[in-house]
Amino acid sequence: MTERTLSGIGVTPLSGVGTVVWYRPDADLPEPPAPADVDAEAELARFEDARAAAEDELEAERERTAERVGEEEAAVFDAHVQFLNDPQITDGVSDAIEGGLPAEHAVQETFTEFVEQFENMGGRMGERADDLRDVRDRLVRVLSDGERVDLSSLPEGSVVVAERLTPSDTAQLDPERVAGFVTVTGGRTSHAAIFARSLALPAIVGVGEELQSVEDGTEVVVDGESGDLVVDPSDERKEAAAAAADVDIRHEAVETADGVDIEVAANIGTLADLGPAVDRGADGVGLFRTEFLFLDRESPPDEDEQYEAYVEALESFDGGRVVVRTLDIGGDKPVPYLDLPDEENPFLGERGIRRSLGPDADLFETQVRALLRAAASADGANLSVMLPLVSTVEELRAGRERFESVAADLDAEGVANELPEFGIMVETPAAAFMADQFAPHVDFFSIGTNDLAQYVMAAERGNERVSELGDYRQPAVLRAIDATVSAAEGEDCWVGMCGEMAGDPDLTELLVGLGLDELSMSAVTVPQVKAAVAETDTADARDLAERVLQADTKAEVAEILTLDQ
Ligand code: PEP
Ligand code: MG
Repeated sequence: MTERTLSGIGVTPLSGVGTVVWYRPDADLPEPPAPADVDAEAELARFEDARAAAEDELEAERERTAERVGEEEAAVFDAHVQFLNDPQITDGVSDAIEGGLPAEHAVQETFTEFVEQFENMGGRMGERADDLRDVRDRLVRVLSDGERVDLSSLPEGSVVVAERLTPSDTAQLDPERVAGFVTVTGGRTSHAAIFARSLALPAIVGVGEELQSVEDGTEVVVDGESGDLVVDPSDERKEAAAAAADVDIRHEAVETADGVDIEVAANIGTLADLGPAVDRGADGVGLFRTEFLFLDRESPPDEDEQYEAYVEALESFDGGRVVVRTLDIGGDKPVPYLDLPDEENPFLGERGIRRSLGPDADLFETQVRALLRAAASADGANLSVMLPLVSTVEELRAGRERFESVAADLDAEGVANELPEFGIMVETPAAAFMADQFAPHVDFFSIGTNDLAQYVMAAERGNERVSELGDYRQPAVLRAIDATVSAAEGEDCWVGMCGEMAGDPDLTELLVGLGLDELSMSAVTVPQVKAAVAETDTADARDLAERVLQADTKAEVAEILTLDQ
């Protein structure tokens, strides 16, 4: 067999070697009986039962995904429950049943109409079509007593190949057994791609119909970096891919080729993210998004629950630093029981530190108490805290004073506590412009490029229409980063980065050249970024950064970076 290569979109910078297992979950329904033979009342009752059973399944999967993959990824199942109970859709199914269709056919027909409508809308709505399809197939399976193919117990070394993988499918894949997955459809931001990154699975999406020509049992190499699927690979190719998968400097602290230490840490949302962060070799946590402890529940976690969460994070790393960000509620992170105001521009409204110093002052106090106590625990010396969305020096002062006054209260109560290392996130243009004023008052900055790019470029994050504009490689964003790092020079203030940009291994050399001391990212890219740091020479990196900072367009930035690689 001579090897051949199919191309798709690589979504995880990892390689895998294995054997193709086709996953074809959709079974065609048999022809429906004549309408006169359908007992509409009985079918309506079957549909209601199926809906209840599907909701139970979704809740169980939500919980499992939150544990195994992450809280953010699990949220997709909430959207599925919404579709399951959407009156427009359920009325459509009931009408179809009353028109003479059995329940499974009525579900198939009605949901498919909505899927097509969503697809025709394109953009974000188009992406929701996959969720609707997932809900449709689940209902049809429940109604036809179908068993779900068990993706969680595939033979070791399987490469799952499918038309598409839904979030429910992807969440079942066991990274210990599965060598990767490849799909006909899908894009870089599809759910399957996001799950692949969270599970650290080599994956390629959007290969197109040519993928159908790859048969069950074929050996393949999945290169999740280039997007190449190598079919019937040569022995050399397999060895190279296996060696790439084995490069493992993960569990060592990393320095540049000329000996400068760079901390490579992980971003976490819940305690379920700690395991992957440790496994992938993170030096510590560079961003603990604590608001995730507050989501998907009916009331906030109390002081002890929070204290235990912070201590568990500290205990997970052998001496590694854990940077906990205080609550960042608002914007795109609503918390139902907090009754947030209805704002026209929530990203420009009451968010982050603005709420902690305002309407959420009580919640903030509880969190500060838990943090001060955690700082006095056995590993507490490694705790750092930072405030989100700071834009004025007054906010920094008020936040800090809050820590000091709560510490005094704890002292008075005789409760052990310590003031942890203290920093702010730099994610507003105001913080970047004023960084020289902030630096003397903090121990560190952590640059949040997701929001910084959004606010510098006035381009909403997550809005595809302006995603080119909101790209972190825009010269204006790079200058804001440079201004921040330069302002901290000569002060006792280290500078980290915890936005998505920090996890892009193609930019590691540039970030080292710009002077970042720490990079924090989703766990999956930790090994790649560590490898990129080890290859970097700081003098070359500084030279690269200087050239990039002269660029006047994003295209020019991209060109300089590509030439340099
Ligand atoms: C950021 O804005 O870059 C950041 C890391 O914070 P979040 O994504 O949680 O807003
Ligand atoms: Mg942010």
